[in-house]
Amino acid sequence: MGQYVAPLRDMQFVLHELLQVENELKQLPAHADMDADTINQVLEEGGKFASEILFPLNHSGDKEGCKHNKEDFSVTTPKGFKEAYKQYVDGGWAALACDPAYGGQGLPLVVNNSFYEMINSANQAWAMYPGLGHGAYECLHEHGSEQMKQLYLPKLTSGQWTGTMCLTEAHCGTDLGLLRSKALPQADGSWKITGSKIFISAGEHDMAENIIHLVLARVPDAPEGSKGISLFLVPKFIPNADGSLGSRNGITCGAIEEKMGIHANATCQMNLDSATGWIIGEPNKGLNAMFVFMNAARLGVGMQSLGLTEVAYQNALVYAKDRLQMRSLSGPKAPDKPADPIIVHPDVRRMLMTAKAYSEGARAFTSYVAVLIDRELSHPDEEVKKDASDQIALLTPVIKAFITDNAWISTSECLQVYGGHGFITEWGMEQYVRDSRINMIYEGTNGIQSLDLLGRKILLDSGAKMRKFGAQIQAFVEENGTDEAMSEFVTPLGDLGDKVTKLTMEIAMKAFQNQDEVGAASVPYLRIVGHLVYAWFFAKMAKIALAKENSGDTFYKAKLATARFYFARLLPETAGLIRQARAGSATLMALDADLF
Ligand SMILES: Cc1cc2nc3c(=O)[nH]c(=O)nc-3n(C[C@H](O)[C@H](O)[C@H](O)COP(=O)(O)OP(=O)(O)OC[C@H]3O[C@@H](n4cnc5c(N)ncnc54)[C@H](O)[C@@H]3O)c2cc1C
Repeated sequence: MGQYVAPLRDMQFVLHELLQVENELKQLPAHADMDADTINQVLEEGGKFASEILFPLNHSGDKEGCKHNKEDFSVTTPKGFKEAYKQYVDGGWAALACDPAYGGQGLPLVVNNSFYEMINSANQAWAMYPGLGHGAYECLHEHGSEQMKQLYLPKLTSGQWTGTMCLTEAHCGTDLGLLRSKALPQADGSWKITGSKIFISAGEHDMAENIIHLVLARVPDAPEGSKGISLFLVPKFIPNADGSLGSRNGITCGAIEEKMGIHANATCQMNLDSATGWIIGEPNKGLNAMFVFMNAARLGVGMQSLGLTEVAYQNALVYAKDRLQMRSLSGPKAPDKPADPIIVHPDVRRMLMTAKAYSEGARAFTSYVAVLIDRELSHPDEEVKKDASDQIALLTPVIKAFITDNAWISTSECLQVYGGHGFITEWGMEQYVRDSRINMIYEGTNGIQSLDLLGRKILLDSGAKMRKFGAQIQAFVEENGTDEAMSEFVTPLGDLGDKVTKLTMEIAMKAFQNQDEVGAASVPYLRIVGHLVYAWFFAKMAKIALAKENSGDTFYKAKLATARFYFARLLPETAGLIRQARAGSATLMALDADLF
């Protein structure tokens, strides 16, 4: 069933040539000794784990799905999942980017991030189990009490225990201010939590001995809305002081959902019946603490979609070189065969190049943000940290929405490359399309991400973060503006930068009169910003490739061709998007709801 080969060459290009991570990491005392060879070795081994252990379980896991046992509330994952998880833990993969103080290996996040791309290419449904464990680790590491950290972090670090994020309830997903789960304080400092959560990924399974649920609930007399939400740690088994498993807690899985994709990941209804929990951080400040998890998860969802784009592209490419149909318009290319391979046809190339460009653009973008996170976590200079943190805040919704929308486009185009065979289960392509669809929904729908970008991250801060980010692009444009070879990239990049500045001001003015103008413009606006970011990265990558075009290494030729395709074929979408973003709210709001 298809193939997956880790794209190590492109990863190395992004990390070492585009981002120069070795130099970058030298500035960070925690990672100053990390060299390119070590990074490459880790990624090579990670690639083997992904393609040899996880990829073979992807299709079978999708077919088999998870099973819920109503008698004991247990969930059984598909054949081979548990064993693969044991290999993951034994191989030390869970601990890769965790703090050595809790048993971690202390590698930079940018390396872990590339590892996550590979395991998501190989098997998104499987990768969600450890991914949520790592998210819980990050949240506790930042906001947990010292006692909590000592008890829980070593087990989350090793991967012996996994985690969940329990936010959603039947009546509230986007609007968490409506949530009803309640927490009552106990004399010993613990809390009793009662409520019902839905759609909880990896809420119950048989891959790890314990599951640490991070649950949002309300304490007595909490203010209404999102200002009255607290965060609790609720373990499936309450650990003893030495970390061994104690009694079973009152949090159980009542059912799992039948769904469109990621069948091998259990989407659970979780019932809390006076479950024992401990508060993380201050009462009513739970959303702030949960944001650590949510931001990590948003980058994680971007990596899921990058992974799917890459694996769909790889398989479509193999198929397009093999499948013989019709002759090339410009004359036979394989005259010895009954027909030419479909890769000779311009439209098949359009589909393949779209997926290739979206994959390479996303790899550059997510690795850049991962480096920013490393800077934010461990740079000695507070100003550098603050700058990194501002950029991360600005770019997180773009990662989440732009990459997941592009994966939906790319996996669909890759399925199309197979013609009717793409629609047939056996080839595996339809699974990538199905699996990619959820990435546009969970962790805040893409519509909500676009409101976050335009409303909160840009307008609410009077465009300060965007201006700072834009200044880097402007500097690149000025630096390369006189280089003739770069003009095909720099001119459209500079032009789009100017247009984004004007558009932002225009929307800000309209929003003074009517806030619906923000909601009406936000989705096309986010896509335009996504393209601005990709145009910047493709221009930077083109610059490196131009310098090495004649080096004899065909990688650079291919990189240049992809950058040219991106500028000629994908970036022009922004012209239409700008018109949409400027169209205003009137045509959207004209009809009364009962006239639809
Ligand atoms: C497979 C799966 C796994 C999941 N995993 C988890 C998990 O692990 N933990 C967890 O807590 N949750 C999880 N979720 C829940 C997921 O995060 C929510 O489904 C998502 O946040 C949307 O909430 P909702 O479904 O209630 O939709 P709603 O909030 O009801 O939204 C419906 C539509 O209205 C739009 N909308 C709502 N408000 C606005 C607004 N102000 N402006 C513009 N548009 C708006 C939304 O964009 C959406 O298109 C999962 C869901 C699924 C399907």
